[in-house]
Amino acid sequence: MGIRRVVVQQGKHLLYVEHIVAGARILRNSWRRVSVHVCPGCRSGRMYPFEEIVDGELRQFRGCEHCDHFEAVDINRDADSMSRLHALSQTRMTEMGDTALHAQQRKFRRLSRVWYLLAVLTLMLAGWQVLANALGLTFVFLLLFSVNLAVYGMAASYRYWQVGHRQLFVKGAFRHWLKKGEWIV
Ligand SMILES: [Zn+2]
Repeated sequence: MGIRRVVVQQGKHLLYVEHIVAGARILRNSWRRVSVHVCPGCRSGRMYPFEEIVDGELRQFRGCEHCDHFEAVDINRDADSMSRLHALSQTRMTEMGDTALHAQQRKFRRLSRVWYLLAVLTLMLAGWQVLANALGLTFVFLLLFSVNLAVYGMAASYRYWQVGHRQLFVKGAFRHWLKKGEWIV
């Protein structure tokens, strides 16, 4: 192997490393974007975690770096956070107006339908495995994947219902929606 060839190969190798590094950087940045919690109060500050003892119990909270908004991490266990977030969401929805809210609803409905459709297609693939007498890991995987997709579909339907009925941050809203059975929108 000539020296020239080695150099070319090394160069290629370095090129791949650069690609991997660039890919990792993009992934890290987009992960940050999704995982950073933006304050629902001022909508610009970042939320930072802190702990506090409430009624003799150590509880997790997060608070804004700019304004005085704070909320419990598990809002379902904290009526105070829940009611403040509910008030904020009502104000925000009033600001958005009916047209924007309807657009939001349509987005959730579209999402819900896409997830359900994918769930049905995956279920059909699982069924095809049964017909082909190939009950193995692939079948189990397809079945679980289908359930997973259906759950996404349900979540989007729930959001559709929440926006339509202005039921954001309302305790027991999920159970109420489940009972009403508006799973397919
Ligand atoms: Zn804030």
